[in-house]
Amino acid sequence: MKILVINCGSSSLKYQLLDMEGEKLLAKGLCERIGIDGRLKHESGSAEHETEPPMPDHSAAIRVMLDALLEPGRGVLKDASEIKAVGHRVVHGGEFFSESVVIDDKVEGAIEACCDMAPLHNPPNLTGIRACKELMPGITQTAVFDTAFHQTMPKKAYLYAIPYELYENHKIRKYGFHGTSHMYVSQKAAEMLGKPYDSVKLITCHLGNGASVCAVDRGRSVDTSMGFTPLEGLAMGTRCGDIDPAVIPALMEKEGLTAKQILDVFNKKSGVLGLSGVSSDFRDIEAAKKDGDSRAADALEVFYYRVAGYIGRYAAAMNGADAVVFTAGLGENSAATRASICGYLGYLGVTVDAEKNSRRGKAAEITADGSAVRAFVIPTNEELMIARDTKSLVSK
Ligand code: ADP
Repeated sequence: MKILVINCGSSSLKYQLLDMEGEKLLAKGLCERIGIDGRLKHESGSAEHETEPPMPDHSAAIRVMLDALLEPGRGVLKDASEIKAVGHRVVHGGEFFSESVVIDDKVEGAIEACCDMAPLHNPPNLTGIRACKELMPGITQTAVFDTAFHQTMPKKAYLYAIPYELYENHKIRKYGFHGTSHMYVSQKAAEMLGKPYDSVKLITCHLGNGASVCAVDRGRSVDTSMGFTPLEGLAMGTRCGDIDPAVIPALMEKEGLTAKQILDVFNKKSGVLGLSGVSSDFRDIEAAKKDGDSRAADALEVFYYRVAGYIGRYAAAMNGADAVVFTAGLGENSAATRASICGYLGYLGVTVDAEKNSRRGKAAEITADGSAVRAFVIPTNEELMIARDTKSLVSK
């Protein structure tokens, strides 16, 4: 069964075609600069090519993607009808969706209703869905939500301590994001522990440009660090994470900024970029720290300290943990990040083995033999998770 996975952003579209017999990746690619000019990067097997076909809109980008998949010679499909279903990543499903679904008019309406809460993400996700419906009529389309995995959070975790009517009237609450990734790596961690998923307590750290921590208690997300939007929680590449809300009126007054401008500062100019003044890329900041830049060192420590703080909070929430998991760009690749965060976790019984922590590339344990709480690096694979959910929906 061949499944196409689509992650549609405002000016980009990422795709993967998977053969679910053996979960094999057949091709993947990225359409960029949609609505500007258009650039395609397409890979299948070891072959890779880049072209610049015009992409005035998302429909055009999807046509370009289909052409690349179908191209005689280097394409991987003879006919588009070989695609059994298309799985779409959708960022916000609000309280409507606690699992993945086949898309119909009602589902489309609910995704639209969540646009308010994710104005940068849900509208392009919807555009992608509509363009696929138009260009691949009759092929099942599914939606897999970043928020769905966290719908199992209890009220004590998702309610903000503001007047309850604000939750009732406007659904202002914590939703959490990166759910597909937290679910994937937590399932994999249970396998690596050799224990049933519904018997283990895990703390998963998705550390990329956007970053979040999740408490997975016997297969269910019970708390996570991102909130109503992906701005809450950890300090990130460019996002501030947790902050006293009273800082907003203070900045309005002192800097003469509007609420929207402040949100822009919090989303795009803060985090380790704002603190270090160097970059939002941790590789650059780690290099600056090595060169003696004290602001870079401080930025990194703020980041580590906050991740460690959330891990402690979730160990308390679950009354312990079996393992801590690191994933995403930084979690998978930066041994210094993992070692620094784990440096705060001695009280939990996490003992890192420096040699194991320095290996790269695949799922592995990084803790020493006998470590009371184990730690793993697990490369995330959100596309595979979307394809798996899609396969199970069309097989129903
Ligand atoms: P996102 O999907 O949120 O854009 P990724 O999960 O791809 O982000 O993570 C990207 C980030 O990972 C980069 O900004 C960079 O800071 C970090 N990163 C990637 N590789 C390394 C590395 N070898 N060392 C340190 N940081 C790294």
